[in-house]
Amino acid sequence: MKRCFVLIALALSGVFSGCQPPAQEPRSEDALPVLEANIQGTADWTKGAMIAAADPRAVDAGLSILSAGGSAIDAAIAVHAVLGLVEPQSSGIGGGAFMLYYDRASGETTVFDGRETAPMTADKNLFMQDGAPLDFVSAWQSGLSVGTPSTVALYGRAHEFAGRADWASLFVPAISLAETGFVVSPRLSDFLASDRFRTVSRLDDHPVSAAYFYPLGQPLAAGTVRDNPAYGQTLRAIADRGIEGFYNLDVARAIAEVVAEPPLPGRLDIKDIMSYEVKVRAPLCGAWRTYEICSAPPPSSGGVVQNMIPNLYDRLLPAEASDADRLRAFVDAQRLTYADRDHYVADGDQVQVPADDLIDPAYLDARAGEVFAPSAFPRPGDPGRALGRGSMVGMWGQDQTVDSPGTTHISIIDQDGNAVAMTATIESPFGNARMVNGFLLNNELTDFAFLPEKATLPLANAPAAGKRPRSSMSPTLVFDDAGQIHLVTGSPGGSSIVAYVAKTLLGVLAWGDTPQEVAESANIIARGQTVRVEVSRQGGPEAARILRELGYTVAESQGEISGVHTILVTDQGLLGGADPRREGVAVALE
Ligand code: GLU
Repeated sequence: MKRCFVLIALALSGVFSGCQPPAQEPRSEDALPVLEANIQGTADWTKGAMIAAADPRAVDAGLSILSAGGSAIDAAIAVHAVLGLVEPQSSGIGGGAFMLYYDRASGETTVFDGRETAPMTADKNLFMQDGAPLDFVSAWQSGLSVGTPSTVALYGRAHEFAGRADWASLFVPAISLAETGFVVSPRLSDFLASDRFRTVSRLDDHPVSAAYFYPLGQPLAAGTVRDNPAYGQTLRAIADRGIEGFYNLDVARAIAEVVAEPPLPGRLDIKDIMSYEVKVRAPLCGAWRTYEICSAPPPSSGGVVQNMIPNLYDRLLPAEASDADRLRAFVDAQRLTYADRDHYVADGDQVQVPADDLIDPAYLDARAGEVFAPSAFPRPGDPGRALGRGSMVGMWGQDQTVDSPGTTHISIIDQDGNAVAMTATIESPFGNARMVNGFLLNNELTDFAFLPEKATLPLANAPAAGKRPRSSMSPTLVFDDAGQIHLVTGSPGGSSIVAYVAKTLLGVLAWGDTPQEVAESANIIARGQTVRVEVSRQGGPEAARILRELGYTVAESQGEISGVHTILVTDQGLLGGADPRREGVAVALE
């Protein structure tokens, strides 16, 4: 049975102490409900609770929900609603998400697939114009790229499943910050002030977005206070009316109208929006060493890639391994995995995706024998042939879809030992740049392959009506040999998420790093022929040198866009890690 909480004044709690004085107090009849501390842990869970996410104000919001007795799911919704305000470049209610929820009492993990969908009028030529694919920036900024916003539906489905707190209370911190104003962070301000970004983002082209992000033509400066009453109003409607506060004719019409604006108007319509459904799925899990690794199944790549990389790594490692051997095994495991995921992973409800085959130990044994020379372009393997079921590699043409960074990751363990790993996105920074009712719309459909065929073969990830684009997002939970939750992690970063999260798994579980050490270490991304090495971080220059000596083509990166947020369960309690490349923190509940 759901418990509702006594409502008191949260605004007095000091949660928002980083803000300037409110520009305007909410009207008294609108006064926000607030939560009373009511921590009730399960007797056999003694490790405490923790939240790791991309902004301290969002983490505080989640902690306030936990301390009032809310569950990990309740806290995740509160955290994300705040992120949509203070980190609008990364995610929000105009986008989508994948959430893994582990329920300690039952031992079950459930996946909420809140991936955006293509309009029912879309076909495989969504991004084709006059026989050629659109360039990425034109597609990104077009109405064509907007998928059905799905995050609020995910909030609703997840809360119905295992929420304990009163629904309306989850939006209190975000509404309060939206109405009184939040302090603009350096990262948000830097994005807006970057000329390079401004020329591609087109936030300026949309009067509502321009007025919000560039008041008087100037980018919001770090340290200044920005309110967003329209977002506050949207959240109040959701708080009052449940998800119908979002999925209703007025909001759907407002979204559809903005999508239909030039350039390249999209066809997402009211029906697409009103009929959106979250898919509740089983996680894709596999064994690795003494652990079980679980992540989201297709259309996410998470379950496939986060099982393939550690397992291939072990198979590629010689018995007496040096540092160079470990590096090479990590790079080759990625190269094999990326080639497979680029070829096979797509929306499994619309096309056949051999997800279980790709992580089958017999296939992994065979695949580990196919390492490509450092100078070669890695090709996909053939799980069908390896498993004696008839070749499947020729089923699809070769796909090299890119995706770009605009995402966030939330990791939570609550006071009962339940866990949430949630990665949420609007795809590119500031999504589609079109703002409606206080939030930005996504450009998630650019995660589809633009060219629907290659050499006459269709691509698994080609657009289609109602289809969900392939995602790199890898919200991941790892369990120990007793089936207990051991690690919660995930990251933003476009297709590099695959590498960022795999580094975290190997770093913590194989190389003995703490979550913070691994977050700070250099990222190494091996998709295709080139290995990108983050030389601006510890270990990067040395890794680049070794890989060059081994014959790989190395591209030096001066900074990556990971935002890994991790919680590790240790004998002593919870150990968090927050990626220094973003503005996040990992905080334990006092
Ligand atoms: N849209 C991408 C995906 O779903 C994520 C983009 C990002 O992480 O920045 O894979």
